Amino acid sequence: MTELVLLGTAGAPLPVAGRAGISTALVVDGRVFVIDCGRGAPSAFAEAGLDFSRLEAVFLTHLHADHVGDLPGMLLYGWGVRVRDDRQLAPIRVYGPSRPEALPSGDDRFHRQTTIHPELPAPGTADLVKHLLAGYAYHLNVMPLDASMPDAGALVRATDIAVPRPADDTPPVPAVVFDDGIVRVSAVAVTHGHAVPALAYRFDTPDGAVAFSGDTTVNEDLISLAQGADILVHQVADLDYLKRHGTDGPELARMAALHTDVTQVGGVAERAGVRELILSHYLPADPAAISEADWARRAGRGFSGTTTAGRDGLRRMLPG
Ligand SMILES: [Zn+2]
Repeated sequence: MTELVLLGTAGAPLPVAGRAGISTALVVDGRVFVIDCGRGAPSAFAEAGLDFSRLEAVFLTHLHADHVGDLPGMLLYGWGVRVRDDRQLAPIRVYGPSRPEALPSGDDRFHRQTTIHPELPAPGTADLVKHLLAGYAYHLNVMPLDASMPDAGALVRATDIAVPRPADDTPPVPAVVFDDGIVRVSAVAVTHGHAVPALAYRFDTPDGAVAFSGDTTVNEDLISLAQGADILVHQVADLDYLKRHGTDGPELARMAALHTDVTQVGGVAERAGVRELILSHYLPADPAAISEADWARRAGRGFSGTTTAGRDGLRRMLPG
C-alpha cells in the first residue's frame, strides 16, 4: 500500500498564512519517505498522522531554504522515538544535491557584498547535515543527560547525489539514488536558475510510480524521468499574476528562469504521459490569491489526464 501525502504546498521562503512550506511524504507499507522539508514540515508530518519512528529517508530537491529550512526539526524533534525494543533504529538517510563545482558568480546585476562562510561557500547536502549536527551539538550532547535518548551518532546519515551530466544530444541516465528491491528512487538534474544542482525524483513502488518535479523550468529530462508515472507532483507559478502585482522587467525574467508557469505545466504532464498531475509549490503561495479551481482549470489545459490542485494534507492512494 502506497500513499502520497502533501505536507505543505507553498513556494518561496516567505511564510504565508494558510499554507505550509513545500514538503511531501510518500508512505510505502508504513515506511515514510519525505521529499523536501519546508516551513512547518515536522508539524504537518504529525498532523498527517505519520510516525517519526517510521521516517526512513529525506530527499532534498535543492538547497534553498524553502526546501530545507525545517530539516533540523525533521531530524531532531523525533529523535527520542527512534528506538524499538531497546534497540535504536537505523539512521534517517538524507539524500540531496552535492556541492556545486564552484559558487555561482551571478551576472552583472548582482554584486555580492558579503560571502558567507567563504571557506565553503556552497555546501552540499552532506556538508549541510554535518553543520546542522555541529550547530545542534548542545542539544545532542546535553539532552541525553536528562532524558533517555538513542545514541546521537545513529541519528542521521547524509549522502550527496552525483547526477551524471549527459553529453550533448544524449538522453540523460537517471541516477539511482535508492533501491532496496521494493522502492527505487531515481533522480535527474533540473533547471532552477543558479540553484545547481537541483534535482527531480521518481519513486517506483510495487503500487505505482510518483514523480516530483522539484523547482524547475520546463525540463526535458524531468519529462523523461516522469514518463508513464501514476502521479506527477509539479511546482506551479503564475508569472502573469506576479507581473500584475509588481514583479516586472528583469525580476520577472529571473522568475521565468526558475519556474514552470501555470500555462506550461499541463503540457509537461501530457508529454510525460502521467495519469494525474497534482499541483504544489504555489507561487504566489497565498491561498487567497488564486482559487484552487482556478489553478486546476488553467494548469490542466493541454493535459488529457486528471489535474488536481494540491493542498496541505491532500492524500492519494496509489492504484496498487
Ligand atoms: Zn522553492
